[in-house]
Amino acid sequence: MTKESDAEQVQRLRETLSKAKLRTTAARIAVLRKLESAATPLTHAEVAEELVPLGFDKATVFRNLVDLVDAGLAWRTELGDHVWRFELQDPSHPDRGDHPHFVCVDCGSVTCLHDVTIPGTARTGWEQAGRVTEILLKGHCKSCIG
Ligand SMILES: [Zn+2]
Ligand SMILES: [Zn+2]
Repeated sequence: MTKESDAEQVQRLRETLSKAKLRTTAARIAVLRKLESAATPLTHAEVAEELVPLGFDKATVFRNLVDLVDAGLAWRTELGDHVWRFELQDPSHPDRGDHPHFVCVDCGSVTCLHDVTIPGTARTGWEQAGRVTEILLKGHCKSCIG
């Protein structure tokens, strides 16, 4: 598969937005492109850091992140530090963001664990505690182990 050009990417993202019944705006496209280029969930601050110099203000960036979540295009997770992290729904991983996350206690990096399946017996055990909304694993990431 050849790598898509910028114009093709923008065209595809426009279609994604229109399917989700969201109006195409420059800010939305910029936010989508940023999330799409990221391998890990990003905080509002991380997205804003890149987009504010392009002329979008922080509040606009935040509103657009929330719009994408509301429209079902993105997912947000809270990993115990009271910071929302946003990631796109990945069509190749149709788990609606419902995958475990691994947080490094040394550097704070977040990894999506798409290929980890939770045994049914574990889910049954959790039901005793309540409704699980986030599965979070903590440890030392590969680059911190060295
Ligand atoms: Zn680390
Ligand atoms: Zn994730």
